[in-house]
Amino acid sequence: MKLIAVCSVLILLLTQCSNSNSQTAQTVTTTKQTMETKNPYYSHTDTNTLDVSNDEWKKVLPDDVYQIMRLKQTERAFTGKYWETETQGNYYCASCGNHLFKSTSKFSSSCGWPSFFEQLNSKSVVFERDTSYGMIREEALCGRCGGHLGHRFDDGPPPTNMRYCMNSIALDFVPDTVK
Ligand SMILES: [Zn+2]
Repeated sequence: MKLIAVCSVLILLLTQCSNSNSQTAQTVTTTKQTMETKNPYYSHTDTNTLDVSNDEWKKVLPDDVYQIMRLKQTERAFTGKYWETETQGNYYCASCGNHLFKSTSKFSSSCGWPSFFEQLNSKSVVFERDTSYGMIREEALCGRCGGHLGHRFDDGPPPTNMRYCMNSIALDFVPDTVK
């Protein structure tokens, strides 16, 4: 009986393991396909501002990007893909492809989210006062599509003393080595 019980547990574990693996692979494929084929607003060169409804964004964005950028959620600290990367390259908006930051303005911050001290230009990131959760903060939004990126604080390093605290999921990173 014991052996049967152990075997059952083992089979259950193996089944769960293979399920979660296939789900992850499927999600990655879906995300890639969505960005390339379903999102007509995504461009690294078009700088015209967008006025797109959340209903429309929901159709074209992967769900994780939609949750953060349109519903203003925050990814958990130390879980995003870019918080500790030091690779040289450029960061774009994950919703519309707008060029937001260069890696040369990224700095190591212990906060658990990718942090920058300077935006690419005056139009790449815009701001709104955010009084949610009983705090007064400066919300950072994509200058092209208005998507939520994160917040900006005034405790960053020189020369700007600013800290753009961004959600990794709101960023698309293109390393310099990719042509
Ligand atoms: Zn955008």
